[in-house]
Amino acid sequence: MEIRIDKIRKEFDRFPALHDVSLSIRSGELIALLGPSGSGKTTLLRLVAGLERPTTGRIFFGQEDASWKPVQERNVGFVFQHYALFRHMTILDNIAFGLTVRPRATRPPKQEIRRRALELLDMVQLTGLEKRYPNQLSGGQRQRVALARAMAIEPRVLLLDEPFGALDAKVRKELRKWLREFHDRTGHTTIFVTHDQEEALELADRVVVMSQGKIEQVGSSDDVYDRPNSPFVFSFIGDSVELPVTVSGGQVQYLGAPTGLRHDHEGEGKLFFRPRDAELVSEGDGISGRVTSARRLAGARIIELDVGDKANARPIEIEVPLDATAERGSVVKFRPLREKVFAA
Ligand code: ATP
Repeated sequence: MEIRIDKIRKEFDRFPALHDVSLSIRSGELIALLGPSGSGKTTLLRLVAGLERPTTGRIFFGQEDASWKPVQERNVGFVFQHYALFRHMTILDNIAFGLTVRPRATRPPKQEIRRRALELLDMVQLTGLEKRYPNQLSGGQRQRVALARAMAIEPRVLLLDEPFGALDAKVRKELRKWLREFHDRTGHTTIFVTHDQEEALELADRVVVMSQGKIEQVGSSDDVYDRPNSPFVFSFIGDSVELPVTVSGGQVQYLGAPTGLRHDHEGEGKLFFRPRDAELVSEGDGISGRVTSARRLAGARIIELDVGDKANARPIEIEVPLDATAERGSVVKFRPLREKVFAA
């Protein structure tokens, strides 16, 4: 199911939680809404679900204007962070719940409901556990039951709000992989909310980066990581170093010295690069810094540098190959290999 979000604005008591947000989601896409707390991710998801009404703007499911459709007519499946499975029901009854509460006219016969619930149990790889109760499952297993339950109504769209938020890091990682495979098998249009950039980059076909009620960038993981289009996206997705620079005659200068980088927008700016995209150079232009410490990781060395001037210290970190040498106290020079300059 294709979803088109068209200039949605959402106010809560005049507080704008979303400002004219537009987004088109293709059928079968796995989309991550990524952003810091309060950026509007959950509000956008709730609007798609029909749990909130837009102040202005519209939402289309396919050709149909669904903006004012009640939640039960949208045919969406949800999973929230705090999976609320019914404690007094078996796993199978939990999964079947959405079907058993349907009005009689559209409710499948009992045997059919059971068959479908068992099929879903198999799909989330929990066959054999149908008679257990939620408290007899692990957190990761419960979350898979929650997904199966959301799928039981054969939703057109799956909406997941921090689905793995409450689980420990190892289980999260496993479930991430599992969800990607599950999605590839079932092909549901899926939107999930996360504030974990690693989760978004690893899982999503496209990542929607949000900040303060606006979409900052929409793109593949490579787009938002390698080609961020704003200082916010650069620093939110992955580690970054930010330095104030001046562009003069096409040359990027830091503290009045040429960095060896070029840019076409003259004037004050901000230089961004990833710590691992820096190369130590022995001659020519570059950014100089005094080594304050160095430590080794499994496959690289992290050098802490002070690139400030006499008046202000400015500590940064860069990552270099293991064979690079950087004595503490020495002055080294480096050049970013891939960088982005934004006008200040
Ligand atoms: P988090 O990661 O913390 O869940 P989020 O990105 O999902 O954050 P939202 O929950 O969408 O953010 O909230 C966006 C803004 O709207 C916040 O400033 C929040 O306080 C506000 N907001 C959300 N729901 C309501 C509500 N029912 N009434 C008033 N303000 C609300």
